[in-house]
Amino acid sequence: MLAKAHITIGMAAAFTIMRPDTVAEALPVIAGAAAGCLICDIDCDIAAEKKDSSRWRIAMAALFVCVLIEDYLLKAGMWEGLMSRSKADSVLFGIPGSNQSDVAASNLSGILASFFASAEGIVSRIMPHMWFFGIAGFALACTFAGISKHRGFSHSLLAMVIETICIWMVFPSVCVPFMIAFLTHVALDIMNKKPVYVMYPSKKGWCLGWFYANKTADKIFTAAGTAWLIAILIICLRR
Ligand SMILES: [Zn+2]
Repeated sequence: MLAKAHITIGMAAAFTIMRPDTVAEALPVIAGAAAGCLICDIDCDIAAEKKDSSRWRIAMAALFVCVLIEDYLLKAGMWEGLMSRSKADSVLFGIPGSNQSDVAASNLSGILASFFASAEGIVSRIMPHMWFFGIAGFALACTFAGISKHRGFSHSLLAMVIETICIWMVFPSVCVPFMIAFLTHVALDIMNKKPVYVMYPSKKGWCLGWFYANKTADKIFTAAGTAWLIAILIICLRR
């Protein structure tokens, strides 16, 4: 599928599963989905692509940066967590809900935030500057994905696991929405007629061969994803 189908369905799936209650919880969902929905296509040859596709990838990168700025301005938790981890005496981190162990989490965002903050607390004591390794590991994984053949490593579960762990080392609350959007991208691509090497380094490609990536099915998925995204945003806003 093309970029708009991946963006709308990845974003809608992340919001549907995470169900953020507050702006502080919604920001990491947006950031994770923005990164995860198109990161697989880092292996595409930009020169050979349509300008439209490249523009959407730049737009998602810009959205990710905007979310980070918004989080910093609102002190919503992502940056506070990162800053507190860089201090040797940090104990718990500013992920929404993580420093409120007496408050029962009511949605998946809260439950996962508490879980990842606890796990992160243990790991960061062993490796205090793990955010640095997270950024370096993510850059390396993306570089390798970029030079690999199309729908190879970049679309694999191996890449998803490595990139998700790297993101968790920097912004733990972003990693689950990232993984959800990544999975929707791979699921949509498998429906196309070109093999996806999901189990890389296995050479067996997965392909259902149902649709062409850029024809009628792409328009249907984009329309369905847009309707789904609008519906779930309305549901989240009304709660
Ligand atoms: Zn793809």
